[in-house]
Amino acid sequence: MNRETLLAEIKKMLSADQINTNPDDLYDASADRYKKYAKVRKVLNVPQPVAIVYPKSVHEVSRLLKFCNENGINVIPRGGKTATEGGLENWKELTLVIDALYLDKILKVDYYNMQATVQAGVPLQQLEDVVREMGFTTGHSPQSKPVAKFGGLVSTRSIGQFSTLYGGIEDMVVGLECVFPNGHIARIKNVSRRAGGPDIRHIAIGNEGTLCYITEVTVKLFKYFPQNNAFYGYLIKDVETGISILREVMVNGYRPSVARVYSEGDAGQHFYHFHDGKCVLIFMAEGNADIVAATGKGIEAAVEKFSAGILKKVDSKLIEDWFNHLNWSQKDIDDEIEGMKEQDYHAGFTTEISADWETIPLIYNNVMRRIRTEFPRAKDLTLLGGHSSHSYINGTNMYFVYNYKIHCNPEDELRIYHHPLQTIIVEETLKLGGSMCHHHGIGKYRNEWTKEEHGSAYYMLETLKKAFDPNGIMNFGTIFPQEDGKKYQK
Ligand SMILES: Cc1cc2nc3c(=O)[nH]c(=O)nc-3n(C[C@H](O)[C@H](O)[C@H](O)COP(=O)(O)OP(=O)(O)OC[C@H]3O[C@@H](n4cnc5c(N)ncnc54)[C@H](O)[C@@H]3O)c2cc1C
Repeated sequence: MNRETLLAEIKKMLSADQINTNPDDLYDASADRYKKYAKVRKVLNVPQPVAIVYPKSVHEVSRLLKFCNENGINVIPRGGKTATEGGLENWKELTLVIDALYLDKILKVDYYNMQATVQAGVPLQQLEDVVREMGFTTGHSPQSKPVAKFGGLVSTRSIGQFSTLYGGIEDMVVGLECVFPNGHIARIKNVSRRAGGPDIRHIAIGNEGTLCYITEVTVKLFKYFPQNNAFYGYLIKDVETGISILREVMVNGYRPSVARVYSEGDAGQHFYHFHDGKCVLIFMAEGNADIVAATGKGIEAAVEKFSAGILKKVDSKLIEDWFNHLNWSQKDIDDEIEGMKEQDYHAGFTTEISADWETIPLIYNNVMRRIRTEFPRAKDLTLLGGHSSHSYINGTNMYFVYNYKIHCNPEDELRIYHHPLQTIIVEETLKLGGSMCHHHGIGKYRNEWTKEEHGSAYYMLETLKKAFDPNGIMNFGTIFPQEDGKKYQK
């Protein structure tokens, strides 16, 4: 099969409004935000997909996948296009992007049973707006909330800003429907819990489009009490102090919705109006009034315990205002891209990892030291730092951020800047037993470490791939390393 015959076959299966071969859209569909600078400078080196297709039902998804499976056509599932790690990048000549644009219905909002069912192409913001009207929330609030869609959110194992209270998407998904490459449609029913063997929701959650296409999702709902929200902010001595306070709050059983610590550099870009060159610690408590009051006391007790590291309390209104402007709309995303047309400057590359409480500060310090001493372009860095933003009983994450001036050809930027930086972060994390990937997914640019990340358990991941996608048609190069993809990586 070639590009023309593939297109001819697709035209037999779908109507004209479901097939997009617009050259600009195909160029856009050939990479995601990982290569945003190369993309905007029009120097992408990857093949373009043959078409973007928009199925209108699960049965159309099933027919498309079955056809691709039988004919060796690569498939890239697509939602809100906010992927950051290459999950939407194309490495194959014969590729169809299956976009959830028309799978856009909110199917049921069940306030009594506290759950809502949506199709994969519903943006999170849309459901959140509907349930907020009735005094509820999904509890899910990634910064990409206005744009990201449910299929993408579930398949990347996304996490939101209020995760310390509500959990990640894996804690919210009740049941789902997904389609496998052979066309099989699987529905996982909605129950409060079950012990019917392994939890098969997790085959779909986090699969990044490499095992199945998610078509429908049911998530939990929570009561929403915005009038009780309480905010806390402190300037602190160092990241270690902040991590110790986060731990103190968590191990004593408190669940603030937000619990974060920012390094000096990272605080500078978020809290430039008050950080005063210092690290910043913030909390938010939400829920019913009694819980908020108890959580506030727990936060204050933890801060008191480490008072030697506290430099100043910050006006809570400043923290509240900051939260209200944190999310990225499509316009913010477009403006960033527009800015890159003119400027040789990179703001906003990140690598997020996780580890236990005692290991996180070690990873953080090792990474800072290695980047400053080993990275040949360290002088081009305009920001190097990070924040911990998602905490658990046994540990937390670290979201490394690095901005830099680009002094090379656009096509070399990833090789000269991003990849060496990311390599140091991943190496230090894996060396100390952390996870190289806290919430953005592996995509195509951390796949070289997938085997090391999972160690002996990689057997389980590999076996799932062989079982569900024996012909390897699902999102070639994502999660699973591929020899043929190396030419696009470095
Ligand atoms: C400004 C910004 C802020 C962000 N903030 C956060 C954050 O706070 N927390 C966080 O976790 N992430 C964040 N991200 C990353 C990103 O938003 C998430 O990974 C999100 O879950 C992706 O959803 P999407 O609908 O845009 O998916 P897409 O970008 O379209 O796809 C992402 C991946 O999921 C696969 N996929 C998409 N739809 C399906 C489907 N129906 N079935 C199977 N696979 C599918 C794709 O193949 C791809 O591998 C942010 C990104 C941006 C740009």
